[in-house]
Amino acid sequence: MEQAMKNGLESWFQPLPDQKCPYCGRILHQLTHTVASGQTYLLGIYEICDCEGAVRRREQTAAAKAKQEQYRVEQLHQGKVDKLLKAMDIPARYTHCTLQNYSVPPGDQRALEMVSAYVERFGAQRKKGMGLYLHGANGLGKTHLAYAIARALCEKEHAVICKAAVDILLDFRAVMDGALNETEYTAMRAYVSADLLVVDDLGKEHVTDWSLAQFFGILDGRYRQMRPTIVTTNYVDDALIRRLALQSDRETATGIVSRLHGMAYDVPMSGKDYRSQ
Ligand SMILES: [Zn+2]
Repeated sequence: MEQAMKNGLESWFQPLPDQKCPYCGRILHQLTHTVASGQTYLLGIYEICDCEGAVRRREQTAAAKAKQEQYRVEQLHQGKVDKLLKAMDIPARYTHCTLQNYSVPPGDQRALEMVSAYVERFGAQRKKGMGLYLHGANGLGKTHLAYAIARALCEKEHAVICKAAVDILLDFRAVMDGALNETEYTAMRAYVSADLLVVDDLGKEHVTDWSLAQFFGILDGRYRQMRPTIVTTNYVDDALIRRLALQSDRETATGIVSRLHGMAYDVPMSGKDYRSQ
C-alpha cells in the first residue's frame, strides 16, 4: 500500500506482489486503471502473458469450460427428455420404435418422408395447429410410426401424449368409475392441452355414443386451441365415418372426420403403389 501511494496510486484493491509467468518467467505486474480525472487505481488482477505456454494454457481452460457448459446443457436437456418420455409411458412393445428403425413398406417412402418433414418442422406445424392423418391397412407399421413420431418430438422437449384410442377411452372410463382421482373435465383437459396428441388406431375401439362424444370433445378442443393431433387409423374418410357411426350417430362421426381434415395433413399409406407399378 505504501509503495502504491508513493507511485501516486490510489488503491481500490490491495497491492499484489509481482508474479512470474510459469511458462516463460516474465514478470507480470498488477494492472491499473486510470479514470477521467487522471487518477490511477490499482486493480485486483495481473496483466496476462502472451507467451505460447500461457496462451495455450488459457485456450485449454476455455475449452474445458466450454465442454463443461455443453455437458451441463446436455444433462439439462436429457433430464427434460427423460421426464417427458416417462410421462408418455410408452408400452414395452413400442419403446424401441424410432423413425430410423421403421421398416418402410414398399411404396410408402413418401409417407415416411412426409412424417420426417413434419417432425423436422414441428415448431411451425405446431403454430398452425396441424397434425397428421395416417391411414392405411393393417400391417404397415402405423403404430410404430406413431410412437416414433411421439419419441422424436419428446426428444425435442415437447410434451406428447401417445395412446391407442382404446386406452384413451379406458382412461375416461376409469375417471367415470371413480378409479382415478380426476374428473372428466381434468382428463379431457390433459388430452386437449398436450403439445401433441397421438391417437393410435382410431376406429378400432368399440364405439358408442359416449366414446364418440369423448373423441369429438378431444379433437374439437384441440382444433379450437390450434394444437396438433396425429391420428392413425385403418379406415379412411367414409369407411372411418361408417366405422365410428356403427352404434352411434353419423353426424358426430362425420364431424370427427371433418375436423381431422381441417387439422391434419392427409398421409395415405398403402404399401401397394410399389407392387402395382
Ligand atoms: Zn509467459
